[in-house]
Amino acid sequence: MKITGAVLSQRDLPRPYAESAPLAVTSLELAEPGPEELLVRIEVAGLCHSDLSVVNGDRPRPLPMLLGHEAAGVVEATGPLSADADLFPVGQRVVLTFLPRCGACEACATDGIRPCTPGSVTNGAGELLTGGTRLTGEGGEPVLHHLGASAFATHAVVDRRSVVPVPADVPAEVAALLGCAVLTGGGAVLNTGGVQPGQRVTVVGLGGVGMAAVLTALALDGVEVCAVDMQDDKLATARRLGAARAATPDEAAADPAYKGDLVIEAAGSVRAFETAVALTAPGGRTVTVGLPHPDARASISPLGLVAEGRTIIGSYLGNAVPRRDIPRFVELWRAGQLPVEELVSDRIGLADLNTALDRLDAGAALRQLIVMEH
Ligand SMILES: [Zn+2]
Ligand SMILES: [Zn+2]
Repeated sequence: MKITGAVLSQRDLPRPYAESAPLAVTSLELAEPGPEELLVRIEVAGLCHSDLSVVNGDRPRPLPMLLGHEAAGVVEATGPLSADADLFPVGQRVVLTFLPRCGACEACATDGIRPCTPGSVTNGAGELLTGGTRLTGEGGEPVLHHLGASAFATHAVVDRRSVVPVPADVPAEVAALLGCAVLTGGGAVLNTGGVQPGQRVTVVGLGGVGMAAVLTALALDGVEVCAVDMQDDKLATARRLGAARAATPDEAAADPAYKGDLVIEAAGSVRAFETAVALTAPGGRTVTVGLPHPDARASISPLGLVAEGRTIIGSYLGNAVPRRDIPRFVELWRAGQLPVEELVSDRIGLADLNTALDRLDAGAALRQLIVMEH
């Protein structure tokens, strides 16, 4: 079928992206769903820093690629499914997640600690979990999938192991955010964080993932939350949502009240990582979920770790098992304890994506949602 989507053909074009236009909204051919695959009509997709990282070359991916990995949509058709057919009737709303879980490999048996091995391989190659691409450009060239999703499009064909069904009362905008921002930031708190009542959680970097970590920590009983970012408006948002304190990295470094038993780094920069390690209290955990450039190197004091009994943990996708964790976040949202809607800073169309990249690059956005027109 013919679809419309936003394709990246060349990385590292100059800023501003509104002028260099790295993402081209174009017509593509999308194959019918094959075995283990679903055709999903995309309703809403979020623009995440990991999309920007493909555009600016921090996360080099094979090109051309149809970007977008945080989204929700509705099942329109399925290929032959060997399992899960009852989960995905036509009309079912689903959350796309950015790492398929095959459920059969050694890594999939680690309760979310290790990313699925075949899923990581096909993600790196720009293919779906069963291999290959279902997208063809206007010139007949194969177009690759972004993280098994390629959601900046009117429709997507995805593997059944890349999606999770959600109940109909979960709006598409909320559902979309569950797939990346909440799963990653919230999972870092609930799965990786090990927080106890009476402890303090400090979040460094208040993009969509970091603010989702703030929201999730605020949902825990008896936990105090601090927020750190360079942008005043994001600090104000964190305070409004319930953070006890919010400050710039320099201010936080000078104030012992920012030392966290759990410190989450969600900015993906060396400075944020070093800030997070320095803000971790004795006996505490630094959990890093950001994705810096592969060549980035940080400077920390090993003696400080030993002398203070601190731990540093890397957490991909918040150590989440999407089928286990997305229902947990839905329950928190339903109970009014996780106002996911607060993560939305703008609603745009596909044609606005390059301008939206500039806003994200300037640190001036939480989550910009692409509301798909059909
Ligand atoms: Zn993301
Ligand atoms: Zn696996």
